[in-house]
Amino acid sequence: MSRIVYVNGRYLPYAKAAVHVEDRGFQFADSIYEVCQVRSGRLVDEARHMARLARSLSELRIRAPMSAGALAHVMRQTIKRNRVRDGLVYLQVTRGEGPREFAFPPEDVPRTVVCIARAVVPDPHAALAEQGIAVKTMPDIRWGRCDIKTVMLLPACLAKEAARGDGAREAWLVDNDGFVTEGASSNAWIVSSEGAVITRQIAPAILAGVTRATLIDLLREDEVPFIERPFRVPEALAAREAFITSATNTVMPVVRIDGTLIGDGRPGQLTRRLRSKFDQFAAISSA
Ligand code: PLP
Repeated sequence: MSRIVYVNGRYLPYAKAAVHVEDRGFQFADSIYEVCQVRSGRLVDEARHMARLARSLSELRIRAPMSAGALAHVMRQTIKRNRVRDGLVYLQVTRGEGPREFAFPPEDVPRTVVCIARAVVPDPHAALAEQGIAVKTMPDIRWGRCDIKTVMLLPACLAKEAARGDGAREAWLVDNDGFVTEGASSNAWIVSSEGAVITRQIAPAILAGVTRATLIDLLREDEVPFIERPFRVPEALAAREAFITSATNTVMPVVRIDGTLIGDGRPGQLTRRLRSKFDQFAAISSA
């Protein structure tokens, strides 16, 4: 079946879908995006993703191209037209097109909206989660507003590429004080020897992950000890368990950091339980 992409009001064949060469997303990364998991044709955690999208737009003073309901409708239509049951949907909104000038274009310039849906079947992460992944630590060279989900992802690409070169699947970014901020495209977590789950608190240095927020709800529900604070790399190396969260990976065990095994080098018990709890949540949330 040919793929269909939404671009500025039209659903087009993949090969015909395009944006203008002077789109500000292309020229300045003046653009925000969301990626949501799709289960049984429905969006997982829709309300949280739409709320973050609205916040990203507002922080960058990009006027919303349409109501949140209409944006969600575009996402659902793109999912439907591509017959995606399980997979991902990507929505990007840019400040629009215009002659290349740094200052914003007039308010009435239409924003560019692109939506792409992709089936991911069977779940390629399921087998990976059985083994766990390796991560590589890298200096965090990103800007000061990582709480906004912009397409300015070059530092993340460089870090992921370096990780791949070392046989790792994710990079953990480390700030100037030696604290892990987050993964290049995920939030970073450890489990202490006392069994407390630790992740960095929300601040401009990290993206407030939707999966992170939902997992915190699940931890509270289960009364698992949970602390929001930064941790340094040596603490992570000595942790009982480690994992990452993101809409694409859900809860993914980390079994090696910079070549050092975490725990016994296998996915931790609590991490596995949290992954399966998140799975149950996703099935219910998309029902
Ligand atoms: N942090 C960064 C830098 C990300 O790019 C992502 C996801 O792409 C996340 C965290 C996890 O966010 P979410 O759980 O909403 O996918």
